[in-house]
Amino acid sequence: MTDDYEHYEAVVVGAGPGGAAAAATLARNGIETLVLERGVDAGSKNVSGGLLYAEESSPYTIDELFPGFRDEASDREVTEHYIHNVAGRDVKTFDLGDLHHHDTEWADSVLRRKMDSWLAREVHEMTRETGGGLLTEVRVNGLLREGAEIVGVTCDELDPIRADVIIAADGVNSELARDAGLMDWEEPEEWFQGVKAVVDMPEGAIEDRFNVDEDEGVAHLFSGDLFRNVRGGGFLYTNDQSLSIGTVFHLDSIADERAEPQQLLDNLLTHPLLADWLGDEYDELEYSAKLVPDSKKVAHPSPYRDRLLLVGDAAGQMQAQGPIIKGMNHAVTAGALAAEAFVDARSRGDTSAAGERYVAKLENEGVMDKLRPTRYKTLGKLGEVGPVASAMNAVTDSALGRAAISALGDRAESLFNSPFLMGMLPDTRMGYVTVPTVIAEELGAPVEGVNTIEPPELDDRIGDLTYDIDEGNPHIELRDNSFAASGTAVTACPVSAKDFGGGCYRDEYVGTNGSEEHVVSLDTQPCVECGTCAVVADTDWTHPRGGKGVEYEQG
Ligand SMILES: Cc1cc2nc3c(=O)[nH]c(=O)nc-3n(C[C@H](O)[C@H](O)[C@H](O)COP(=O)(O)OP(=O)(O)OC[C@H]3O[C@@H](n4cnc5c(N)ncnc54)[C@H](O)[C@@H]3O)c2cc1C
Ligand code: SF4
Repeated sequence: MTDDYEHYEAVVVGAGPGGAAAAATLARNGIETLVLERGVDAGSKNVSGGLLYAEESSPYTIDELFPGFRDEASDREVTEHYIHNVAGRDVKTFDLGDLHHHDTEWADSVLRRKMDSWLAREVHEMTRETGGGLLTEVRVNGLLREGAEIVGVTCDELDPIRADVIIAADGVNSELARDAGLMDWEEPEEWFQGVKAVVDMPEGAIEDRFNVDEDEGVAHLFSGDLFRNVRGGGFLYTNDQSLSIGTVFHLDSIADERAEPQQLLDNLLTHPLLADWLGDEYDELEYSAKLVPDSKKVAHPSPYRDRLLLVGDAAGQMQAQGPIIKGMNHAVTAGALAAEAFVDARSRGDTSAAGERYVAKLENEGVMDKLRPTRYKTLGKLGEVGPVASAMNAVTDSALGRAAISALGDRAESLFNSPFLMGMLPDTRMGYVTVPTVIAEELGAPVEGVNTIEPPELDDRIGDLTYDIDEGNPHIELRDNSFAASGTAVTACPVSAKDFGGGCYRDEYVGTNGSEEHVVSLDTQPCVECGTCAVVADTDWTHPRGGKGVEYEQG
């Protein structure tokens, strides 16, 4: 009998920005709220670039929900933003200030362990006053149903829990969204993969090398030919005392090109452009990786079922506004709107209407149009049709295209700064690789720096991470170990590589009855739980049990 189980008015799953915003809004409205987080600490499982935006047009920003946030939990206010178009040593830099400041109240660099654990402490205080609280090391492993209806959650570590509303803020690999049939992990083109290094900086180095004051920060983006033909780009953000340097690529492109994510990151780290910023001593504090959804393709138009409401990455709400990534702020907005929808529905005596109200709020507040811009649906997607994409790419790279870009000169900068154009950019090689490369070749100049740093090898990167391994309980199982079904994971997994024996995925040839089979093997010990192989390989994929697996210290 599900009636025997403990009951809360609200259960929030996940203590990232989406979960924290939902829980704070529920608690402020006196709703008895329990928050469940699988990490040993909030943030220990999380990775972002990360620039956290507060948008002027958004109904909720994190500092409104958590006064003191910017003083306590973020790093630097980022006031300058540049994009570097790269072709070999040639670079043409554009100031992206207009795009960065468009609709922006402020944007701060953040590290997720620091940020999420601060938020969790605040959330715990607030929710305790409602009779709930925040529990870490609890993994929600499914939905509790009564007949076909969702009425609560089931966990590895606790008895099932009933709730009037369940807010799933459990991130990109949301098992709850999948359990409810609201999301699947089938198509690589629906996801990006992000890989990141946090690099220590000596005292005063950020101010000297980036020419900023102590309370200011800068963001640099990179695109062009330095990532082979993989669609995506690189970033470098200044934190208080470290740099976040990483790459974000379309997962289908990583898979198709058989690219190795850590190698692409190294291409960025060792480019001469980074020489002056990195200096001679390279001290990498942490290597990390995660998937994020491409909201243009997967932001769910109706992210609820029964009492379950999805917010943030779990609902596909991660916006790539051209080269600028906005996921955390949308998770905050959606979390608060979902909570507000429940509060409204409850005050009218019909909590079952929360899902519908949430959908209406996402539409009315303009969130859905940011996530799935109409202009992308009508125009941008056209540019992705095979022959159109090839033709556009060929024209850009032709004498005519080069002449047009030369003639445009520095006026090209204003195109990069147009939120309208960025919202309808087709996801093709043209935008990520060809245009930036041609710009660099036609308008750029060679960089002088000599980059002498040597990024760590993959086994050192893995060796530096903290793991609490769940011996005997692998959280990923290979359903089909043939290379044809699962071989892409050997190169796409950020902690695996071809001919590398210490990663998660390895390929090998096994002799059977006189013939040879090409198969893959999996060892989840070094897994950073990024989710990539859930999409590109044939697996049974779940998160590790509460507290188990990788523990990020930076994020
Ligand atoms: C390399 C990279 C760069 C990025 N750059 C930026 C950027 O610059 N700006 C930006 O805004 N966004 C950026 N993002 C995206 C951003 O990180 C996400 O959009 C954002 O974190 C989503 O927030 P969320 O609250 O929905 O989910 P998450 O932050 O993923 O939080 C989910 C939480 O749920 C917990 N959880 C998951 N499953 C369970 C379970 N079953 N039981 C209990 N707890 C569970 C997790 O441990 C986690 O704490 C980047 C992402 C990556 C990977
Ligand atoms: S095994 Fe899968 S989830 Fe783990 S790091 Fe590799 S690709 Fe990511």
